[in-house]
Amino acid sequence: MLVYQGAKLPLRAFMPDGIFLTGSTMYEKLGIAINVREPIPDNCIQCNQCSLVCPHPAIRAVFVREEDLVKNGPKDFITVEAKRKGLKGLRYSSR
Ligand code: SF4
Repeated sequence: MLVYQGAKLPLRAFMPDGIFLTGSTMYEKLGIAINVREPIPDNCIQCNQCSLVCPHPAIRAVFVREEDLVKNGPKDFITVEAKRKGLKGLRYSSR
């Protein structure tokens, strides 16, 4: 079914109530992220392309307020000053 060949499966391959086993996600992981990117904050133009193309939805582009970062943020959370208009006082991260 994962490779769109489910119509070729015999009826006996299914359980009587029509369900099929869950947990098949592990077979879909293709190991495509062999190399993990290491962004260079000073070179980041905040285009968000990295979060758009990340195959594992692991890269999240966020804006955070400086005061929240100082109060509640982890010490190793790397951010840069937000570059777009109207975002003064915000920090940007795409980690
Ligand atoms: S937002 Fe992501 S893709 Fe764009 S410059 Fe920054 S790190 Fe690179």
